[in-house]
Amino acid sequence: MPFADRLNNVETSAIRELFKLLGKPGIISFAGGFPDSALFDVDGIREAVNAALSEEPGATLQYGATEGHPPLREQLAAFMASKGVRGLAANDLIVTTGSQQALDLLGKTLVSPGDKVIVEGPTFLATIQCFRLYGADLVTVPVDGQGAQTDRLEQLIAEHKPKFVYLIPTFGNPSGAMMSLERRKAVLRMAVKHGTLIVEDDPYGDLYFGDAPPPSLLALADEVPGARDVLVHCGSLSKVLSPGLRVGWMVGPAELLAKATMCKQFSDAHTSTFAQATAAQYLKAGRMPATLSRVRRVYAERAATMTTALRRELGDAIDFVAPQGGLFVWAWLTGAGGKVADGAVFAKKAIEQGVAFVPGAPFFANDPVHATLRLSFATAPLDKIEEGIQRLGKAL
Ligand code: PMP
Repeated sequence: MPFADRLNNVETSAIRELFKLLGKPGIISFAGGFPDSALFDVDGIREAVNAALSEEPGATLQYGATEGHPPLREQLAAFMASKGVRGLAANDLIVTTGSQQALDLLGKTLVSPGDKVIVEGPTFLATIQCFRLYGADLVTVPVDGQGAQTDRLEQLIAEHKPKFVYLIPTFGNPSGAMMSLERRKAVLRMAVKHGTLIVEDDPYGDLYFGDAPPPSLLALADEVPGARDVLVHCGSLSKVLSPGLRVGWMVGPAELLAKATMCKQFSDAHTSTFAQATAAQYLKAGRMPATLSRVRRVYAERAATMTTALRRELGDAIDFVAPQGGLFVWAWLTGAGGKVADGAVFAKKAIEQGVAFVPGAPFFANDPVHATLRLSFATAPLDKIEEGIQRLGKAL
C-alpha cells in the first residue's frame, strides 16, 4: 500500500509483541497499564447514565459542541478547583477523547517534521509514537527519583529550542516518579524565561497513597507570572473512574485551544456526548471523593505488597524507588551476583515462569536503558502479587 511517509517514523511497539504471550494460561501479569476493572463504580455510573437520559436525553444522544458538553466543562473546572487550580472557567478547557487525544492534537497543532520536542527518559510509549508520527525529533531529559532533572532540562531547552517539553510530573508512566515542589517551580520559571511551552500530562495525580503530591504545574502557575501562557495541562478520568468512557480534557492558552478544537472537529467532531453527559452527572452527584479514596486505598496496599515482596525475593539484584502513587513500580536490574541485567531477557525468562512485566527500554525515546523494567501492581490481587514476585525471583 502506498502509505503516507509519516508512517515511516513509527513502528509497532516491541511491547505489543510481548502482549501476545500473555494469553498463556495461569500467567500472572504485571505488564498492563490498565486500572483494575473490579474497582469501577458501576452503580455510580449506572445512576449517572440514568440521570443523563432522564434529565437531558436530547443533549446526551445528539451531536454536541467540539469544545465539549457545557455541563461537563463546568464540572471539570470545579474538579480542577478542588485540586488547587484557581480561577479556571469552563471555557478555559476543552474536552478530549481521553488524554491520548489531547496528545494527538498537540502533535497535530504544534509539530512540523524535524521540530524538536523534549520528553522524559523514560516516558509514556504512546506519546513517543504519537509525536514521532508528526515528525518530531525527540530529545530526552533524564528522570530520577525527584522527576525530570531540571538543571539538565534547562540546558536542553537552551540548546535545542524545542517546540515544547512534555512532562508527567506526578507518578509518571512508567517511572512512577513524583517531581519535587522545587523542581516544579523551576520548570515554570524556565518555561517563562525561555518562552518554552510545557505540556503537563496528569492522569495519575489523584492516585496518591499517603500525603497528597505537590500541586500540579497548573495549580502552581499562578505563583510564577506569565506561566499560564506557556502551560498546557492534560487531565483524564481514565485511571480514576473509567478508561472506557474516553473522557479527558486539556487546559491551555486560548489560541492553542482554538486550533486544537479546529483539528478535533475534523477528527471526531466531538467526544461522545453520551460519555460526557454521564461523566458530568457522575461529578455533579459528588461521588468522586469517595471513589478516589477507595481506589487510593486499594492501590496503596497493592504497591506496598509488591515492593515488600520485590525486596524479599529479588534482594540486591533489583533497585527501585517505592512509588508514592500511580500504578507502576519502575526498577533497575543491578546484575548483582551475576544475575540477569537486561529487562528484555528477564521478561522472556519471567514468562517461562508464568509471570509477565514490560521491559523498560522501549520507554526511552533515545539511548534506551536496557537494565530497566516496569511492573504494574494495579490489577492483581494481593496473593497473586506475592506469587508473581516469587516467580520473578525464580526467573532471575
Ligand atoms: N498519558 C499517560 C501518561 C498515560 O499513561 C495514559 C494511559 N496509559 C494516557 C496519557 C492516555 O490515557 P487516556 O487517553 O485513557 O486518558
